[in-house]
Amino acid sequence: MAKQKYGLFGWPVKHSVSPPMQEAGFQAVGIDASYELFEVPPEGLADKVAELKEEGYRGWNITVPHKTAMMDLVDEIEPTAALAKSVNTVVNNDGYLSAYSTDGYGLEMSVKRSFGVGLAGNHFLFWGTGGAAKATAGYFAGQGARRITLVNRTVAKAEALAEIINQVAPDCDVKVLGTDQTDALKGLLEDVAVLIQSTSIGLHADDPLSLPEELLVPGLQIVDMIYRPNKLTEIAHERGCKLANGRDMLLYQGVRSFEIWTGIPEGPADAMGRALDKALYG
Ligand code: NAP
Repeated sequence: MAKQKYGLFGWPVKHSVSPPMQEAGFQAVGIDASYELFEVPPEGLADKVAELKEEGYRGWNITVPHKTAMMDLVDEIEPTAALAKSVNTVVNNDGYLSAYSTDGYGLEMSVKRSFGVGLAGNHFLFWGTGGAAKATAGYFAGQGARRITLVNRTVAKAEALAEIINQVAPDCDVKVLGTDQTDALKGLLEDVAVLIQSTSIGLHADDPLSLPEELLVPGLQIVDMIYRPNKLTEIAHERGCKLANGRDMLLYQGVRSFEIWTGIPEGPADAMGRALDKALYG
């Protein structure tokens, strides 16, 4: 069988840990495949996609800033991803391109593995409603979350995401709050199954705590989408919260992409996880 070709679109993308993770997966199941990085500016996206189609690439991932623009270049889009306007995986079946978002599944697996919490019937609070929340909150609602609370510094962005969630799942109860509405937020916490830290605060070592310390009540279950230690890691533990970082979300979005490309269910998650850990933490 000819070597299969895959890759990742981003801009910038050179620090991505997806190549070792995906290559470990292919190796584990005996598929001869490569996984490259395509550092392409927005104006070069269409030409590069045409080139990959021409060269018979089997599929690719998409990261910032191309997750919405890729939608114009494919033949079909999974419905929830289409509403959220965010795709991160494309499979090329003989020139017919199908697009998916696997970020929501990645976050779902993180919540399940860390806390044993399923999506159906539960309340999730997203602290931050940028691209990552947009790619995942609608999926959570579509999988039966009872309530989603969206909290953001720029409330208009949270409101726009709430509209998307209402389209995906009209029965899901969606609430929008600003990051300064601490008293109202404290009142909600008892009902929240998992708080998802989805701002970019904490990416840099000297970043402040991403949310008010008084919200970090003992026993609160938190997934921090950031996969390296930061102020939240330190203070959440001190205050008795249960915290998972973004490692599992990153791993399982990749595992689901692998499954879409190869048809191998669950993917070789252990091998991919070991390679990911080596790339992330050395
Ligand atoms: P983004 O689109 O740039 O959104 C950034 C979010 O952070 C917005 O909600 C923004 O609020 C908020 N924010 C930034 N600086 C702030 C500040 N000083 N005060 C208050 N709010 C602030 O980024 P993204 O793509 O959503 O990514 C968010 C995080 O998720 C990043 O750390 C990224 O690394 C992580 N992530 C992880 C995974 C994974 O697999 N683990 C996947 C995707 C993303 P405003 O709207 O008010 O600006």
